[in-house]
Order: sequence, then structure tokens, then C-alpha cells
Amino acid sequence: MPSGGMEFGRARAPDTVASGCVVAHDPVTVTARAPSLGESVAELRDSARLFYDRGWAFGTSGNYSVVIDRAPLRLLITASGRDKRRLSAGDFLVVDDAGLPVERKDSKPSAETMLHVALARRPGVGCVLHTHSVWNTVLSERHAGDGSLRIADYEMLKGLAGIQTHDTAVEIPIFENTQDIPALAERLVRELNPEPSPPHAFLIVGHGLYTWGCDLNEARRHVEILEFLFEVVGRRSASVGRD
Ligand SMILES: [Zn+2]
Repeated sequence: MPSGGMEFGRARAPDTVASGCVVAHDPVTVTARAPSLGESVAELRDSARLFYDRGWAFGTSGNYSVVIDRAPLRLLITASGRDKRRLSAGDFLVVDDAGLPVERKDSKPSAETMLHVALARRPGVGCVLHTHSVWNTVLSERHAGDGSLRIADYEMLKGLAGIQTHDTAVEIPIFENTQDIPALAERLVRELNPEPSPPHAFLIVGHGLYTWGCDLNEARRHVEILEFLFEVVGRRSASVGRD
């Protein structure tokens, strides 16, 4: 149980492991232990500190969640308005598939909780991370008119799940910013197309990055890889004076 005056419900044991990830919805074999809620809190807190230190989520910006159960869907998610530099167990809560708190009524989930829920319903998504960096904000505006940001031919692309070679390109969809989160969540369901290859992330104009992974480690790696690539693309285009 995490410290900080709150007690979470017990996470269900994992059912199987795929691609290095604990997957809690495929009842085949148990070959690894899912992180406990306390461990998930600690890992999210460490990730939040890393993102703060790198300038990817200053102040109370950003929000983070992990799937702790599938049936019914339960997410451990950061509470609204908390300083991401020093999160404690009391800065997280568990929400259901409607984005509502399961146990704690004294704490509000992040305003963008339904985006996390919409993403967590997708196959293979076990963690969702959202950052507000300078470079993801700059590129979201610069490429808003294109509807997506294309990143090609970088070695670091191999850090994204399923990519084996630098000789490839990813398209990161860009959505308009809005305070109508349920409407944006519906757009994600309609427009984040798994074909020809599952997306790794999307950007919101003038706002930030959402990325995910089968577990927290993969999602955090995606943040690191994408924020690196955003900075490279941004600095490169600035240095050659294009766009
Ligand atoms: Zn945000």
C-alpha cells in the first residue's frame, strides 16, 4: 500500500507477458508479476520527476496513468493540478471507465482523464503519458496545417515499439486544442487508425504530446525518444531556416 493517507484497491494479478510487457487481459500464462499499486505510484513519480527535470512538464502540466485492471477498466492517474516535480501517493487516484474516482471522492482526476480512458481501451495500451515540452508545443503549431508531423530516417526511431530500422517514417497525428475533452476523446477513437501501423502518439496544437505503451517502461521510453526527435526536428528546421 502506498503511503500518504490513501489506500488503493488491490490490482489484479497479470495474466500473461507479451513483448516484454505485462498484459492483464489475456488469460494464457502467468510468467511475470504485475507491479503493485505502490510500485506503479513510485514509477510514475520517478517518471514525472524525470520529465520535470528535462523541461517536458513544468508546474502542474502533464498527466500520467497506468492500467491497473481490465475488467472492469481501472486506471491509476494523477490528480488534477498537482506539482509534477514532487508527486506523492496522495497525488494519484483510481478512476473507472467513465473517468470517475473509484474510491477517493476528495480528489479530482485530471481534466484530461477521458483521453487516458479512450487510449487505455485500445489493445495493448497499459500506460499513457502526457507532456508539455517546448519542442512538442512548437512542432504542434508549426505542422498543425499538415494534420500530422512526419519524422523519418533517424536512428532513434528504433526506440519506438515495432520499429526495427532507421529507414522508416512515423506520422504523428495533430489534433486541434479544445476544452471539450469528451469530443476529443471521440475523435481519438474514430481517427487514431491502427492501419497501416498502430500509432505511437499524437500531438495537440499549442498544448503537448500524448504517447503510450504496453506498460510504463515502454511509454516512458516513447516520451524520451519522441522528445529527443522533436528537439532534433525543431532545431534542424530552425538551423536551415525552413518552414
Ligand atoms: Zn495537457
